[in-house]
Amino acid sequence: MSEFDLIKRLQEIISIKPAAGHPSCVIGIGDDGAVLAVPSGRQLVVTTDTMVEAVHFRPRSAACDLGYKALAVNLSDLASMGAEPAWFFLALTLPSADSAWLESFAQGMADLAGTSGIELAGGDTTSGPLSITITALGLVETGKALTRSGAQEGDLLVVSGTLGDAAFALHTMNAGGTADIASRNALDRPVPRLQLGRCLQGLATSCIDVSDGLLADLGHILLASGKGAEIELERLPGSNSMNALEESERLELQTAGGDDYELCFTIPPQRRSELEQIEKETGTRLTVIGEITASGELLCKTPDGGIYLPMKRGYEHFSRNEAGDK
Ligand code: ADP
Ligand code: MG
Repeated sequence: MSEFDLIKRLQEIISIKPAAGHPSCVIGIGDDGAVLAVPSGRQLVVTTDTMVEAVHFRPRSAACDLGYKALAVNLSDLASMGAEPAWFFLALTLPSADSAWLESFAQGMADLAGTSGIELAGGDTTSGPLSITITALGLVETGKALTRSGAQEGDLLVVSGTLGDAAFALHTMNAGGTADIASRNALDRPVPRLQLGRCLQGLATSCIDVSDGLLADLGHILLASGKGAEIELERLPGSNSMNALEESERLELQTAGGDDYELCFTIPPQRRSELEQIEKETGTRLTVIGEITASGELLCKTPDGGIYLPMKRGYEHFSRNEAGDK
C-alpha cells in the first residue's frame, strides 16, 4: 500500500455524512491545509492526544480498538469542555503499510466518528514505531466552555458512570488473567461523555475528564480553582466487576487507576435536583461523591470517619497525606 492509497482508504472508511447544521469543512483532505468555517457566535475548542505503543496500549492490541480509543480520548477532552465535536486530524506513524491492520483501525475509528458526528479533515502519515496522534476540534457557544477553574466552596462534587473498571481490566490482564467483558469494554471502548458535557453548560462551575485517576484529575480542578475537597469514599460509584477485590485494592483502582474517561465536575448545592433530569436525558449515572472546601487540601474520608491515605504518590494536592510526608 502506498502512502497515497493509505490516506485514500482512511478517508473512505472514516468519512461521515455530516448532519444538517454540521459546521462546514470548506476544504478537507487533499490540500496542504484544511479550511474550516467556524459559525458566528461560537468558539473553537482544540485538543490533542497521542497514543504510543507499549506506553499507552499493550503491544499487539486489536487495531479496531486502537482506532476507537485514540479518537475516544480526544472526544473525552471535548466533552469535559462542554464542546460539540466538529472535525479531527489524524497523525499516524506506522511500522508498515499493512492493509488488514489499517482497515480494522479505520473501522474502529469510523464507528465512533459516526456516532459522535466528527469529521476527519486531514492528518499526516509517516513510517516509524506505531504512534497515533489525534487533534480534535469542537465548538462551544462563545464564552460558555467549561473549565477547571470555577469550583466554589460548598459546591457538590459529582462523577459520571463508574470508576476503576478500565484499570481493573488492565490490572487483571497484566497479572495474566482474563478481564470480564464489562471491564474490558471500559478499557478498550470508553464512551466519551459528550452529551453530558453539553448538558453541564451553565450548570457546572468546573469540569475535567478523569484520564489519570480521580484524585490526580480532581487535583487539577482544585489547583486551578484554588480550593480543596472532601470525598466520601463509600460513595464512589463502582461496578460489580470489582466485588471480589480487597477493599484497599478496589479503592486504589477507583481513586488512582486512570483511563476512566468519566467527567468529574462541580455544581452549586442548590442545583442538586437538576442532576436527576440530566441522568434521565443522558442515560448516564451521576453520583455526588463529596464537596468543595476552602482548605486547599483533598481529603478522602472513610465510612468510620478516618482519613484514607492514598498509596500512590505524586498528587500535589495531598502532599500532607502522602506516605513520604508522614
Ligand atoms: P503535505 O506533504 O503537503 O504535508 P500530505 O501528503 O502529508 O501533505 O497530505 C496530503 C493530504 O492528506 C493532506 O490534506 C493531509 O491532511 C491528508 N492526510 C495525510 N495523512 C492523513 C491521515 N493519516 N489522515 C487523514 N488525512 C491525512
Ligand atoms: Mg504541502
